[in-house]
Amino acid sequence: MPEAPEMEIYKNYLNQWVKDKKINQANVYRAKSVNLESKEFCTTVIGKQIKGILRQGKYLIFQLDDGHFLLTHMMLDGRLFLMTIDAENPQETEVILQSNAEDLKQRFQDLPGKASVVLGLSDGLVLFFCNLTLGYLHYLGQDQLQTKLRELGKDPLDPNFSAQNFAQLLEGKRGMIKPWLMNPKNISGVGNAYSNEALFSAGILPTRLISAISLAEKVKLFDSLVNSIRESIRLGGDMEEPFASWDNLTGGYNAYFKAYDRAGKPCLVCGETIQKSEVGGRNAFFCPHCQR
Ligand SMILES: [Zn+2]
Repeated sequence: MPEAPEMEIYKNYLNQWVKDKKINQANVYRAKSVNLESKEFCTTVIGKQIKGILRQGKYLIFQLDDGHFLLTHMMLDGRLFLMTIDAENPQETEVILQSNAEDLKQRFQDLPGKASVVLGLSDGLVLFFCNLTLGYLHYLGQDQLQTKLRELGKDPLDPNFSAQNFAQLLEGKRGMIKPWLMNPKNISGVGNAYSNEALFSAGILPTRLISAISLAEKVKLFDSLVNSIRESIRLGGDMEEPFASWDNLTGGYNAYFKAYDRAGKPCLVCGETIQKSEVGGRNAFFCPHCQR
């Protein structure tokens, strides 16, 4: 599942490529992926300009020039893909938007999945939202957006969120640390991959009780979390599917995980075998020697 780094990489690409573009065409291939009736969704978004793209936690927010927003969450396997249409063949966008999802998948091998919603943009760009089965793309007003985002905990990259704030949040909390880290109501954008990495770097076992974590360890955990997220963004995150055919950055962080998805392999610090166990219904990866 894409987490904060992967969504941040999408955000950066979208701001670079899609910001200020106008939505000229739209097609909904999977009605349940949008919150309006499919035709109404298309007529509503067509003609709108995308003013910019923001991220909060695992959400991306497209700001439209009518004061509304497109809010998307990828959930498990949602993916974005950007295609550029040959300037000499502008009717190609029409052809794409009139094709069915199966034909698209067959025709464009690069597509990261089955198209759920497709937006035809100005300057020959086509933005695909694929595999929005659990994920979605919702057209929302300001109030609706705020209601949705109010449920979210602070984003680890929020400049107003400090190690001190993080330690305060943990104060008096019960239960194990890993499930707490992954609950978006506590902090947002952190899933299985980066919670495992942060705990490894901070030397804290995923099963450690929050009440048994010292202040110094909480600070270290926050710094580890922010560092692994920042480093992952710099190196391309862990997603396997590129954002566009020219994108050779995405997935670059996969080779750098120290604990996540490394069960049975030697710890890069001490050589002990990385263990895997289920914690809070999700896989925890840890070094029994380096983490306590
Ligand atoms: Zn170790």
